[in-house]
Amino acid sequence: MTFASPKANQHALYPGSFDPITVGHVDIVKRGLAVFDRITIAVARNIKKSPIFTFEERVEMIRETFADEPRIEVVPLAEGLLVDFARSIGVRNVLRGLRAMSDFEYEFQMASMNRRLTEDVDFVFLMTSEEHFFVSSSLIRDVAMNGGDVSEFVPKCVQKSLQAKFHSS
Ligand code: ADP
Repeated sequence: MTFASPKANQHALYPGSFDPITVGHVDIVKRGLAVFDRITIAVARNIKKSPIFTFEERVEMIRETFADEPRIEVVPLAEGLLVDFARSIGVRNVLRGLRAMSDFEYEFQMASMNRRLTEDVDFVFLMTSEEHFFVSSSLIRDVAMNGGDVSEFVPKCVQKSLQAKFHSS
């Protein structure tokens, strides 16, 4: 019996909106780097809900967060099917993070549909640690918008950007 070559595991794609990147995302990337040699973070340009940060700002904050990590690359997520994009850059593994049951249901549907679309690309789920279970970009946005302290939940550069966005005057 033979299976896919070990090389298939070297590279993963981590797609998302990252509006903005949080310690939850960072935790998933850190865990991902223990499994994969390198990770390409793909940032969605168009998001269903209008983002508070522009595409360029979201990319810049991720680049700054991982500035010292050569195994991370940040790229725009191309329009179209995720699995087609993964194949176009030669990636077999899509990395996703899991928080609670709510994530599971959505992720399970998405992974199942994607499996129907192609057998070439697999979804790999990593669970975040307990202290990040409740951290979401949308909650961070709400707390920051209302003047709360989010320093514990986002990288330093994001904290500065949120401060500038909501409380610059
Ligand atoms: P999307 O808009 O695709 O949900 P996000 O930027 O919100 O993109 O998240 C990208 C990925 O990171 C998803 O797999 C999401 O479940 C995961 N993620 C987000 N926040 C956390 C967290 N606190 N812990 C673990 N995974 C997370």
